[in-house]
Formats: sequence, C-alpha cells, structure tokens
Amino acid sequence: MVEFDEFGPEKILEVYDPKTKMHGFVVVDSTVLGPGKGGIRMTSSVTIDEVAKLARVMTYKCSLAGLPFGGGKSGIVAPKNMTKEQKHEIIRAFSKAIKPICPSKYIAAPDINTAEEEMRIFALANGSMRSCTGKPSNMCVKPGEKCGIPHEYGSTGFGVYHATLVAVNYLGWKNPKEIRIAIEGFGNVGTFAAKYLTEKGFKFVATSDSKGLIYNKNGLDYSKLMKVKKEKGTVTKYAPGKVMKSENIVGLDVDILITAAIPNLVNKNNYNKIKAKLIVEGSNIPMTHDIENKLHKKGILVIPDFVANAGGVISSYAEYKGYNPKHMFTLVEKKIVKNTKLVLKEAEKKKHSKLRDVAMEIAISRIRKKKK
Ligand code: NAD
Repeated sequence: MVEFDEFGPEKILEVYDPKTKMHGFVVVDSTVLGPGKGGIRMTSSVTIDEVAKLARVMTYKCSLAGLPFGGGKSGIVAPKNMTKEQKHEIIRAFSKAIKPICPSKYIAAPDINTAEEEMRIFALANGSMRSCTGKPSNMCVKPGEKCGIPHEYGSTGFGVYHATLVAVNYLGWKNPKEIRIAIEGFGNVGTFAAKYLTEKGFKFVATSDSKGLIYNKNGLDYSKLMKVKKEKGTVTKYAPGKVMKSENIVGLDVDILITAAIPNLVNKNNYNKIKAKLIVEGSNIPMTHDIENKLHKKGILVIPDFVANAGGVISSYAEYKGYNPKHMFTLVEKKIVKNTKLVLKEAEKKKHSKLRDVAMEIAISRIRKKKK
C-alpha cells in the first residue's frame, strides 16, 4: 500500500502496452520544488510501493541538494529471459506512454538495469532531450553539441570524496597520510571515491567487491588495483594483501569507512565491531536509522546517504541545464561541500543532533516554505 502524506505522492501513473508486454509505473512524489527527478528501475519484482518509497527519498535528496527538482521514480516490470531487443522495445513503449508528463512533471534517469543506452532510447522515443538524464556523452541537442553526462563520469564518487574532506576537516584531522580508509564496493561510486582520496594522499588500506575483501595496512596502490579489477574481475586478486570475506570490512581497524555497495552492510550483528570514527554513506541505506542512532550515541560520525551521495543527481541537473562536464564537476563540489558543512553546523547548534535528523529537517523545511 502506498502511503500518502502532506508531500505526496502527487501522481501515480500506471501504463501498459499489450504489443510489447510493457507494464510500468511512474510515481511523482512531489513537484513543489520542480519536476520529479528519479531513475527507472527495471526488475522482475519491482512494485509501485517500492517505487513510491524511492520517489520520496528523491524528494528529500533534491531538496537538501538545493536543486529545483522534486522527487519521482519509475518502475518497469522486466519479463523473464528478456532479450536486449525486447528490453529496448519496452523502454520505447514506456517512454511514449509517459510522454504527457515528461519533462514537466517527471524527468527519468538510469537505475537498476537501465543505463546510458536505455536513456538514449528513452529520450528519442519521448522526443525531448530534457525527458531524462544520464544520456551518452555523444548524444546531442544540436549537431556537434555534446550534452549527455553519463554516470560513468563518476560524479557520485567525486561528491562522496568532497563530503569526506568536509567531515575530516570538521573532525580536525590534519594529515591525510595517517588517515586510513576502507571502501566497501569497488564499482562506480567506490572507484571514483578511491581515486580522488588517494590523489589527496589518504591511506587507502582496504576495499571489497562481491567476491571478497583485500586489506593491506601499508596501503593499496589505486592504479594497480584498477588494473587487477579490470583484468581479473575482482579486487581479491590484488597482491600484496590479505584476502577476507566482504563483510569483514565493517570491523577493520581504519579511521574512515566509506560504503559503496550493498544495503544494510552495517546491522545489529556487526555495528559493535566498528572501529572507524567516521562513516560516509556513499551507498543507499547501508544501515537502518536505528543503527545510525546507535553509532551516533557511540560518537561515530555518520554522513547520511542523501547528503554524501547526491553528486549523481547534481550531475543530472547539470545535464538537464546543458552544462559541460567541467561545469558539472564544479557544481557537484560546490553543492556537496556547502550542504555537508550546513548539516554539520546545524547539528552542532542543536546540541550535536544526529546528522540525518538535521538533514531531514532542512530538506522538509525547504519544501514547506515553497508550498506556502
Ligand atoms: P556498481 O554496480 O558500479 O558497483 C557496486 C560494487 O559493489 C561492485 O564492485 C560489486 O562487486 C560490489 N559488491 C556487490 N556485492 C558486494 C558485497 N556483498 N560486498 C562488497 N561489495 C559488493 O554500483 P554503484 O553505482 O557504484 O552503486 C553503489 C551504491 O551506491 C548503490 O547503493 C547505489 O544505489 C548507490 N548510489 C549510486 C549512485 C551512482 O551514481 N552510481 C548514486 C547514488 C547512490
């Protein structure tokens, strides 16, 4: 059952196309600050309820990021054993079906099982370049003009890096060479966060993927690790280092833990093992709010997901506005630094409240103010 409150959802559109067997839905949660922004999730199990929850997260994330976007999300039920051609036909049919609300009420983006190629197909079928973001970098509005900014540029990892720098300064930690970092997940978000942090001189001692974890207390070589991951498919083939199970990343002796893979990484069974004094949530929902409360009480600083990983949606805004990639990176840095500092400052004013509570208050107050 979709839950409604003072913010939304404003609109739920369910669409079918018998010819392609497309069944999809869009939840426009809120357009108070601008058109609802959010990705297209294409899985066999996706539901309106799931999409509505994700659309609400986007409402708060865009508000906190200070973007003129509201929250939205869509789902397409993926048929079993779907071929690539069938997938593209379904995306095309979905895009045409939701055309009346794009981009005035909803702007799409990639999510699970949709990437830049699907965004290209979506934009062409919709007839509007502004109907979605995350398009290929060579997709043009006018001949010769570049406008797509795919997720592969690494805007989220870049934003996670800046959120980490702000938190490190806040904690008064001075020498990056002595600050040990573990990064859970070495995919899009994790690799870019690792790149920028190692370039800044931080001691990157551990990372993981679905096959396991690699740890070396003297530090990992970022470029070598990238090569190993590309050639051998897993970070666990890197040497020298100790190979462990992926979940052991939680208890490692490090100063900073950056999450960049699975939900509920930190949970009631392992939160007591955490040695890190700072956790930056690059992934979505790496722990429940209850676990965040427990860590907060233990004095561990947790930068919440919708503060730290907003680089992706800020990049989407840059693409929507037709900015070039350089301008996009400048905007991500400016906004992530500003918002992380704001949340830390407000939390201090409120007797060191939990950062998520403070961030939520800021996001909600902006929506309420605009609604008046
Ligand atoms: P990705 O698919 O590029 O990378 C995920 C990585 O996690 C891979 O290296 C994979 O091997 C690893 N992994 C899978 N299971 C694991 C496990 N059990 N333990 C450790 N590692 C494991 O995904 P991504 O785009 O980097 O996204 C990572 C997280 O960040 C997700 O929660 C996603 O929702 C969130 N996020 C991503 C973006 C973005 O722009 N890419 C934006 C906001 C939030």
